[in-house]
Amino acid sequence: MILHCATSNPGKLREFQMAASHFGAAFRVEVLPGLKSIAPPDETGATFRENAILKALGYSKHTGEYLFCDDSGLVIDALGGEPGVHSARYAGPSATDRDNNELVKKRMLGQANRAARFVCVVALARRGEVIETFEGTVEGLMLDQERGSGGFGYDPLFYCPSFGCTLAEAEASHKMDVSHRGQAIEKMFAFLAPRLQ
Ligand code: IMP
Repeated sequence: MILHCATSNPGKLREFQMAASHFGAAFRVEVLPGLKSIAPPDETGATFRENAILKALGYSKHTGEYLFCDDSGLVIDALGGEPGVHSARYAGPSATDRDNNELVKKRMLGQANRAARFVCVVALARRGEVIETFEGTVEGLMLDQERGSGGFGYDPLFYCPSFGCTLAEAEASHKMDVSHRGQAIEKMFAFLAPRLQ
């Protein structure tokens, strides 16, 4: 089964394709053809779920295949849930991962509560209709310095107690075993498996 995915984030795409490969040849994740020329839907939702649905509804009109989008981000308790749905552009509209990490480190200075989680909601749609949404969460602790060079985004600052390292220090396939995105996408594949012809 071909699943079109509307993401321009190479880190996310890598993870989705890795998750699909766990199912052998059953699922193939491809970037939505022509994605670059489609105006991205405005992410005006207040929650990851709302934004994932907005994206999936908008993009699924451009393909006859199943299409999925995720909305994900980092939720830090000491910052009242920030950066949350603003994770991608926390430090400004053209912020890089490095800029965002610098801002998080600055805001976390002196904070005793380091608890945080990554959340991912995947919305699955077909021809302009949302079929189902799937959610995953991974709990961790925010470090005050980056560790590791793998992954993307906030991974180098996110310490995962069950691994004893940051998500940027973990093997990519191990990250998917526990991660918010890994959980959400596995749920989507499990949902679709009975629909395979
Ligand atoms: P989205 O593209 O609007 O879903 O924004 C997701 C943003 O959240 C990314 O650009 C990262 O900053 C952050 N994020 C989401 N998932 C991860 C992850 O697995 N590791 C690190 N950062 C992540």
